[in-house]
Amino acid sequence: MTHLLKGFAQPEIKETVANYGSLDATVKELLLSAHAVRQRAYTPYSNFKVGAAFRATPSDIIFNGCNVENAAFTPTACAERTALTKAVSEGYQKFSTGAVVAYAPDVFTSPCGVCRQFIREFAGNTDVPIYIARAIEERSPTEPFVDDDPVLCTSIFNLLPNSFHTY
Ligand SMILES: [Zn+2]
Repeated sequence: MTHLLKGFAQPEIKETVANYGSLDATVKELLLSAHAVRQRAYTPYSNFKVGAAFRATPSDIIFNGCNVENAAFTPTACAERTALTKAVSEGYQKFSTGAVVAYAPDVFTSPCGVCRQFIREFAGNTDVPIYIARAIEERSPTEPFVDDDPVLCTSIFNLLPNSFHTY
């Protein structure tokens, strides 16, 4: 029966925690974009602000998005889906990397289950690295990260193993 497992997308990237300072300049740029757009989050109900950014490939254009809450709660859009929806509506459907920035005291904020499925849709058969960093409020908006900041380096196939897909 193990042949039935062949179609499942499996992680191609080992999950690690790295220091911000050790990251590639393109990853830092993506995290800074996610951090910047997080400032625009519309969160009158939770005040939990999230920013996300995805780098389209092969164009290298960054699309970012923030979470947008709603009084009826259900229509709320997460930052990850806002960013990807912006990209797709501009004609971009492939992404080389993603980044998510939010703040919780002692934990990384990773994409919710709905967003994991949404990101997975555009991964096709190739894993997409996702970098998750914490936004410390007291920091300067122009320099929100320092070299020692921990960044979770994971991927969509780590976040959503054995995922649902139909093609
Ligand atoms: Zn979400």
